[in-house]
Parts: sequence; structure tokens; C-alpha cells
Amino acid sequence: MSGLPDIVADVRASVAALHEYLPRYGLVTWTAGNVSERVPGADLFVIKPTGVSYDGLTAEDMVVCDLDGALVDGTRSPSSDTAAHAYVYRHMAEVGGVVHTHSTYATAWSARAEPIPCVLTMMADEFGGEIPIGPFALIGDETIGRSIVETLRGSRSPAVLMQNHGVFTIGATGRDAVKAAVMCEDVARTVHIARQLGQPVPIDAAAVDSLYDRYQNVYGH
Ligand SMILES: [Zn+2]
Repeated sequence: MSGLPDIVADVRASVAALHEYLPRYGLVTWTAGNVSERVPGADLFVIKPTGVSYDGLTAEDMVVCDLDGALVDGTRSPSSDTAAHAYVYRHMAEVGGVVHTHSTYATAWSARAEPIPCVLTMMADEFGGEIPIGPFALIGDETIGRSIVETLRGSRSPAVLMQNHGVFTIGATGRDAVKAAVMCEDVARTVHIARQLGQPVPIDAAAVDSLYDRYQNVYGH
């Protein structure tokens, strides 16, 4: 059995590695965007430090915070989005990973405060319906975190588009949350392109339920 220091070391390595997906899939510019992961068996999570570039991010660069977002271990300051991540972990026990990006197409939908309608079977599979909009919220207090939790509790989607801001995704693991962020940007782009020459056709609600159930429970993903 490994002790807490070993578990924290594993999560630091995992979070550093997961950050590589953000530039690889074109989800981030400069230093915006971050991944966090809960430390199993402890009231802690690991997140990227603020203002650090994606080139050569190491496990040692990652910072450990408690569920109030306070720094517990690390040589740098936690991401400015840490309070939002902490709020999600405090209020959604099933969540093991959180991702935040300003990925272009998804954020364009958020700028219009328009949910992405469920017009693709892959959206039904992954999101179980439309990708919802959360309210406008200023960074710096609990408003963003509370808005993420309230919006996602009313939806099957693991992604929320925060109005005028960007994307937050959740998952049972950090990898699941990263996958949701990648898929969210992909469907935001496809539905945007579909709009250019006409009105995308919605998928019948019963078919959405059937696709979602199959993908989540039967198809090994
Ligand atoms: Zn942001």
C-alpha cells in the first residue's frame, strides 16, 4: 500500500501529463486553461500553477491545494481558477477531475450565451443532450464554482459553457474531464460549421436517451 506522499506524487505526474492534451488539441492560447485532479482518499487536489507556459510543465511544477483552494504544497501560486475547481470538488463528491479552457468554438457559443444544441449522435453519446450555458460570473469569489455546479446538476452534460467566458468540464477522472473538453470543442466547431448553410436538425429526445444510455453503460469507452 502506498502512503499519501506517493499518491500525491502520482497525481502530480498525472496532472502534468494531462496538460499536454490542451495545446495538442488546440484548446489553449498562452497560459490560459488548466486541469486539476482530486487526490484519492484525501481532501486535496492538484492543479497547474498560475501563469506558467505549457512547454515543459513538470510534476514538480504542479501545486497541491485543499478543498478550500488554499495552497498546501508547491513552490508556485495556484491557478487563478483554483477557487472554481475547489468549489466543484467540495460539492460534487463523484468528480475526480476538472478542466477549464477558453477553446475557440465553444467559447464563441458562450459569447452568445447560446447552448450547443444536440444535433450530432456523438453529442448524445458524450453529453446526453445540449451543452448548457452557465450565467455570467466574475472571477475571484465562489460565484463561478457555484454556477458550474448548479448548471451541471441540472444536466447530463459533463461540460458547461460559462457565459462570456469559456468551458468548464468535469469527469470521474482528470482524463475523463480532458476528454469532455476535447469533445466539447469538436462538437462546438462542427455545429458552428453546420449552421453556416442551414439549420441543424435536432435529434429526437428518445433517440438521445437511447444513444446516451448505450454509450455510457454498454459501449466500453
Ligand atoms: Zn477562464
